[in-house]
Amino acid sequence: MAKIIPVGIDLGTTLSAVSYIDSDGKTQMIRNTTGGVLTPSAVLFDDDNIIVGAAAWEAAAEFPGRVAENAKRDVGAASYRHKIVGQQYPPEVIQGCILRQLRHDIMSAVGDSFQAVVTVPAYFDEARRKITADAGAMSGLPVLDIVNEPTAAALAFGERLGYLSPEGAPEGEMKLVVYDLGGGTFDVTVMELAAGKVRTLSTDGDYELGGIHWDARLAEYAEEQFRKLYPNAREFDDRDHIKLARAARAAKHDLSAVPATTLRFTLDQHELKLPVTRDLFESLSDDLVERTVFTTNQALRAAGLLWDDIDRLLLVGGSTRMLAVRSALQKNSGLVPDDDVHPDEAVARGAAVYCRYQMGVRGISDAIPKLRVTDVNSHGLGIEGVNQETMRVQNVTVIPRNTPLPYTVTRQFVTKTDNQRSIKIQLLEGESSLPDQCSPLASAGIKHLPPGLPKGTPITVTYTYDTSGRLSVNASVEGLGDEAKIELDRVRGLPATRIDRWKKVICRDGGYQDFEEAVASMLISDDVLHSGTEKQKLEPDKPVERKRPNLDPAVEVGAPQAASERLWAQARGQKEAASAKNAKPTETKSAASSTKAKSQDDDTWPPQSQKKTPAKKPKAKKSSSSDSSSGIARYVLAGILGAWICYYGVCLVWPQMNLLGLPLPGVSEQAPSPSSTGP
Ligand code: ADP
Ligand code: MG
Repeated sequence: MAKIIPVGIDLGTTLSAVSYIDSDGKTQMIRNTTGGVLTPSAVLFDDDNIIVGAAAWEAAAEFPGRVAENAKRDVGAASYRHKIVGQQYPPEVIQGCILRQLRHDIMSAVGDSFQAVVTVPAYFDEARRKITADAGAMSGLPVLDIVNEPTAAALAFGERLGYLSPEGAPEGEMKLVVYDLGGGTFDVTVMELAAGKVRTLSTDGDYELGGIHWDARLAEYAEEQFRKLYPNAREFDDRDHIKLARAARAAKHDLSAVPATTLRFTLDQHELKLPVTRDLFESLSDDLVERTVFTTNQALRAAGLLWDDIDRLLLVGGSTRMLAVRSALQKNSGLVPDDDVHPDEAVARGAAVYCRYQMGVRGISDAIPKLRVTDVNSHGLGIEGVNQETMRVQNVTVIPRNTPLPYTVTRQFVTKTDNQRSIKIQLLEGESSLPDQCSPLASAGIKHLPPGLPKGTPITVTYTYDTSGRLSVNASVEGLGDEAKIELDRVRGLPATRIDRWKKVICRDGGYQDFEEAVASMLISDDVLHSGTEKQKLEPDKPVERKRPNLDPAVEVGAPQAASERLWAQARGQKEAASAKNAKPTETKSAASSTKAKSQDDDTWPPQSQKKTPAKKPKAKKSSSSDSSSGIARYVLAGILGAWICYYGVCLVWPQMNLLGLPLPGVSEQAPSPSSTGP
């Protein structure tokens, strides 16, 4: 059997790179068809060919409607932000096209016996990790795992310094900050290296911050100057915007090497030759640099460390070539940034190292792993619950952010009614206690509980983050022996059937014409994702509406039964009223929150377009529950009012009891405390 080669893929927003482990155990970069080690993450949908790389990148200004760039920024969204030949595509399809080309380059270099690890920004949430793995599956790549980019960079650095095996390692531990500023995302991670150990301590970042935002600042400035010079010039179209952004980027690159340059741009007969100094460029973008410094300090705090504790500052990503970034970091940290690893290659090389390590861990290769890699989750995992004091729907954290992985936690639920046949738990990602400020991740549902279970039957739900931050949820019902089958109904990403179909489209030969035909045949074909009678055409640009089964709620143990239907009805009512007013609810911190599987009557796909349909429950029961809740509310109000009147009466008779300072007849507002004021 052919030896399986470990491969690492840095799937960047702007540039991608691939590395493998050679027969001497060293990382080597893989060259693309044009001989370079960096492949622009751009796809040209030409009629006869789907072209990935430099040629596609160059064609963007001429054929903006045929080139997809920076699709990684949109991973997690329903569709890539620009239309391709008038059609919208899921971002993972574009990522899949890039990976298909990289797979081709890998096979040319090492043959077809390999396993690959694809990198993601540490700050990517669980859904984006899953979607990246889906893109790999669509491209036909054997994706063994996903790894965080800074972890990969630290592995490349560790390899260079000899930290990756217990024997060859320098003595002692080393703490490092990996600052990764690429084309579209920013990631910062605090790590610890020790002999044979790579450990992430904390991670933070921003997936809407990268080199393109610096380009945009310069382009905005250039456009202003252009307008001043040529007030009657026509409006810019897409092509002009792309050309100007390219000119700004070229000027930005120059300014990393020289203190002044000229930005050149032409619109029809109007020519702009704009002198730009490094100082000017830095003044246009200093807040962006500051944002990264702020986030870096935040990551350090999350790790419980000070800059004095940090030994090395590792810069990764093309944008760290900007001198302002280096000097701001140096000033902030007191450390001279490290140049030991190549900023463009570190992530791919480290991913190959991680692939070899994972192959050892999983027994795919004979090599016994001498290394231990521990990562953390970059976002907290929570369940939607009801705070019993405020009656607000709240995110209750189950696994906090920056928890070392893998990590498993179990929570107990009980069935709410006799003969309950299903349960549903709404999972959220984020740090806020307000569900609206978290990302809905999935709903976890058990659909087929056996009949006859008594009310209060315990159900244990286990949430597990694996080493790469991917979530799985399991459940077991007491007395049933077997694990109850729990299904994760994800809010984002494509279902498995769609991934398979896209794989066929992406992996076939031909150009956009065939691509479009294949997609069109998908649209016409019987591609219905739900079992309902109404058939729904599958359109790649539209999120698919999926019918989900009605599931019943379960109550988490510890939450009084009162926190059931009535509280949910009230909480839901408050939430709806709040959103109707478009008012932002204030954050309430209370430990007394009960979590409960959400009693959602019907879900639509995606959840933002939720459509309510009547629940399975008998109507009479539903209305009586809401009647009783409003009845109780009336009693409570009457009680409060009665108590208040009694208290007022007592104060009238014994004014010394007026500790709340109520205005009493005959007592002036400026009067001292009631106790010293006689009637
Ligand atoms: P990603 O990982 O997001 O694909 P990279 O790490 O490859 O990104 O970095 C690409 C970014 O680096 C681009 O925004 C590019 O303009 C920027 N970049 C590359 N070289 C330079 C340079 N010499 N000076 C400033 N920025 C640079
Ligand atoms: Mg990168």
